[in-house]
Amino acid sequence: MIIAVDGPAASGKGTIARALARHYGLPHLDTGLLYRAVAAEVLREERDPANEADALAGCSFDDFQLEDPRLKSEEVGKVASVVSAHPLVRKALLLRQKRFAGQPGGAVLDGRDIGTVIAPEADVKIFVKATPMIRAQRRQLEQRKSGIFESLDKVLSDIRARDERDAKRAEAPMRQAADAVLLDTSFLSIEAAVQKAVAIVEAARSRAKAASESE
Ligand code: C5P
Repeated sequence: MIIAVDGPAASGKGTIARALARHYGLPHLDTGLLYRAVAAEVLREERDPANEADALAGCSFDDFQLEDPRLKSEEVGKVASVVSAHPLVRKALLLRQKRFAGQPGGAVLDGRDIGTVIAPEADVKIFVKATPMIRAQRRQLEQRKSGIFESLDKVLSDIRARDERDAKRAEAPMRQAADAVLLDTSFLSIEAAVQKAVAIVEAARSRAKAASESE
């Protein structure tokens, strides 16, 4: 079973994807980490993320770099959304994600274009959303835990800028696939959001089972 979880920053998609992977015993790939690794390389080599050739050079990161906790920083996230707009960068990372999705037994992947580009054949597609203000509050809380104190206005404007870049780019923009189920986590606890996600997967499985029995 392939489960595609897409959505904007701080919507809860990563938490939901990890919980689904645990629940169903499936491997999980946080595809945002790949773009973050490219961004970290570009920053480390002091290249220009807006330049496609510079960004492409960052794609030759080593797998162990995906474990680096610094990839989670706001700065890397912001640069990731710049490098990820380049078609050649997306192309360089495509096969790896498609292979992960296609492994025997299936997988859970989360990102922006899983249901639309990476695994359009996914058995279940969930698009996770929450209001920009709620996402900004969540992000601010996370930041405070790591000792970063930014105003809510600043966090909110960063979130809006990232949404805009991710949704308006020409190549594989963030959007809900036509056959994805929308999950709004704005007013849900983590537990409630995960329960809803499991219910979405179960409903899709029942539909698939009923369809195969009627054949
Ligand atoms: O999800 P995360 O915040 O880690 O993603 C960082 C950035 O990587 C996103 O803002 C987006 O620009 C890019 N990304 C993408 N496609 C994906 C996953 C992430 O373009 N499948």
